[in-house]
Amino acid sequence: MANLFEHILFNFLNKSLNKSLLKSKVVIIGGGFSGLSTACYLAKYGFEVALYEKNQSLGGRARQFKIDGYTFDMGPSWYWMPDVFERFFADFDQKVSDFYELQLLDPGFRIFYDNDLIDIPFDQQKLSALFESIEPGAAASLGRFLLSAKYKYEVGMKELVYQPGLSVFEFFNASVIKEYSNSI
Ligand SMILES: Cc1cc2nc3c(=O)[nH]c(=O)nc-3n(C[C@H](O)[C@H](O)[C@H](O)COP(=O)(O)OP(=O)(O)OC[C@H]3O[C@@H](n4cnc5c(N)ncnc54)[C@H](O)[C@@H]3O)c2cc1C
Repeated sequence: MANLFEHILFNFLNKSLNKSLLKSKVVIIGGGFSGLSTACYLAKYGFEVALYEKNQSLGGRARQFKIDGYTFDMGPSWYWMPDVFERFFADFDQKVSDFYELQLLDPGFRIFYDNDLIDIPFDQQKLSALFESIEPGAAASLGRFLLSAKYKYEVGMKELVYQPGLSVFEFFNASVIKEYSNSI
């Protein structure tokens, strides 16, 4: 996310905007991750940034709701794509650990049924065994899915996401074509 913003902003500033607009004021509407990170990059490039949020707290879908001593996550449950957060903070010479501490949960979560529950373990072998115990053959399917997901994530993050987004042809490359050919 971090470098994507940076690319977009660089291109926006260099190609579309009159240079005299640099250092001017920018208003950002919305204090979710997108608005907050955009505000950080614009401030880094010297803009005077004002951010407006309609809710009483920042965070957007990722904010928390507290009541009667309980805290509820309003959206995300999984800390996906940790590399994106690391890149974002590194762009400001900071580290994730300067701001928050991550704690691995094992089991990661619990699924409740009417009269039953399933704990989802962190360990991949245990997860495969769990899948197999529910449906014979599911462990192999999970393995194939994870391999394919790994490939897509790596190609997506290394070759696509941080493209500047100026042409659709940025998304046609050998890795994408290879995966597409494998899938048909
Ligand atoms: C149920 C759910 C589960 C999810 N699970 C995960 C997960 O496990 N892992 C993960 O990585 N992601 C997850 N996501 C996705 C992740 O939460 C979002 O992609 C991310 O939070 C979006 O950030 P954003 O800044 O783009 O948008 P938002 O978070 O929607 O922020 C937009 C902000 O703009 C404000 N706003 C809108 N209009 C105005 C206005 N006119 N004036 C002022 N303010 C305004 C809104 O109040 C809000 O704060 C989940 C999302 C949901 C809803």
